[in-house]
Amino acid sequence: MLDLKIDNGLIVDGSGTEPRLGSIGVLNGRIVALGRVSVEARGRIDASGLMVTPGFIDPHTHYDAQIWWDPALTPSSLHGVTTVIAGNCGFTLAPVGSERDAEYLRHMMVKVEGMPLSALEQGVPWSWRSFGEYLDQLQGKVALNIGFLVGHCALRRAVMGERAVGYAARAEEIRAMAGLLREALRAGGLGFSSSQAFTHADGSGAPVPSRFAGPEEILALSRATGMHPGTTLELIVDGCLTRLNDTEVNLMIAMSRTAQRPLNWNVLGVSAANRDRHEHQLEAGTRAQKQGARVVALTMPILGGLKMSFLDHCALNSLPGWGAVLASPVPERLQALRDPEMRRKLRASAESVTGALASLVRWGAYEIGDTFAPENAGLTGRSVGEIAAQRGRDPFDTLLDIVVADELRTGLWPQPADDDDESWRLRVQVWRDPRAMIGGSDAGAHLDRMCGARYPTAFLAQSVRERGLLSWQEAIRLMTDVPARYFGLKRRGRIDRGYSADFVLFDPARIGSAPIRSRNDLPGGADRLYAEATGVEYVLVNGVAVVSQGRLTGALPGVVLRSGQDTVTVKP
Ligand SMILES: [Zn+2]
Repeated sequence: MLDLKIDNGLIVDGSGTEPRLGSIGVLNGRIVALGRVSVEARGRIDASGLMVTPGFIDPHTHYDAQIWWDPALTPSSLHGVTTVIAGNCGFTLAPVGSERDAEYLRHMMVKVEGMPLSALEQGVPWSWRSFGEYLDQLQGKVALNIGFLVGHCALRRAVMGERAVGYAARAEEIRAMAGLLREALRAGGLGFSSSQAFTHADGSGAPVPSRFAGPEEILALSRATGMHPGTTLELIVDGCLTRLNDTEVNLMIAMSRTAQRPLNWNVLGVSAANRDRHEHQLEAGTRAQKQGARVVALTMPILGGLKMSFLDHCALNSLPGWGAVLASPVPERLQALRDPEMRRKLRASAESVTGALASLVRWGAYEIGDTFAPENAGLTGRSVGEIAAQRGRDPFDTLLDIVVADELRTGLWPQPADDDDESWRLRVQVWRDPRAMIGGSDAGAHLDRMCGARYPTAFLAQSVRERGLLSWQEAIRLMTDVPARYFGLKRRGRIDRGYSADFVLFDPARIGSAPIRSRNDLPGGADRLYAEATGVEYVLVNGVAVVSQGRLTGALPGVVLRSGQDTVTVKP
């Protein structure tokens, strides 16, 4: 007797081979039968008309906090994700040396990952000290499979205390950090992550602890990582955002070589307008390969999605002459934005810009997100250009009228740049390139600005169904088997006998992501950005449905993935 039978689905098994109709038998969380399954089962899902694929794997999330109040990791689970890697960029909530360290980490997470302090304080128990205690306390309480890298900042703070910011580590402190890292990896940490990036500042505005580490410290921690089976490395440096320089590439290569583990960084953008850039960034992978290392760039398969508003700090502040106006108190800002003379000035200086900022000046191209004033009802989801044409008004004035009516709170979504055919052609090449891998959602982070968690369904809708850029089987492979083999995840990422029963069942004609909206459901009462999925009927983790007929079931069949036990060693 099987636990579950999934009948008549169009199986896309993750290996990249052609879809085929068939059934799947599941027993004790594993796939035990495939193709024609005649054995009886306690449960049955009729998958007629649905595609059945391995669950998607999100390689770059920051769900370290959210997992405590939202074990289903919404909205990732609704978009078909069954396994996530957390603890990226050097930022984890363990180990914790003291209560003061915990407070430091909370304030750091607010700054570096855009999580509200109230959610971190009220939604996370902070009932651990060691990394192992953190993992143990989650066991049995998760709906998805989740693995955690060990963050450099928490390690450094736990060992060096206040000296973690502003000081180089002494030899004995490096030894202590390496010891603490090894303890965390023995307990199941999946690897080591660090940040050297200029964008990462702590709660007081100082660089985060990992940015004070020299190469000696970073390589000592890489060496410690390599002593444990099934581990991996992740690093973010200034050049990830701008352009990688030799020092940065050499550090990545040295880390990977020292640990004898692959290293990934994020996130790689691809644009036909600047194709030299992504080719340069991928060169890090080529150089690594020549030196016995492996460096992989994560790249998002969908565009943009950064919310702007006239209320908070955003890219609009960088337009010449705009910074001072947008920094003024709200009543003055409203008055300025109402004033025809000020509008004329703002517009003239904005329209004088060239380069990357020029994309902000396409006023008609903003899509309206959440609105608040009664007169703005019904505008959500429409472009400013369309609304202006209907009103017979100028797009810039229309934009400001909407924003002023909402007292600046309107959510604005700039239409993504680089949505041209040539850029998409180049992206397909990059997705297929072994020096890159699909990922970089930052799911669980930057909750007021973006919702990267939606990428699996949006990617399948846009690039497979609508644009036909690649086949279903290839797109599925890139989000299942490829990341599973990269991280060495045992028995995950494919539909085959012996593999874990992690599946997504979706209607290929309807799969997609709904638009991003604000939702008020964080502990402590803050908002977050969120997107529902369409066409995803079932999501199963270890043979148990966490999503059934498009809704969360509340089941908690996920496992906390532990290095060595749930992963095999992947060498460069
Ligand atoms: Zn990150």
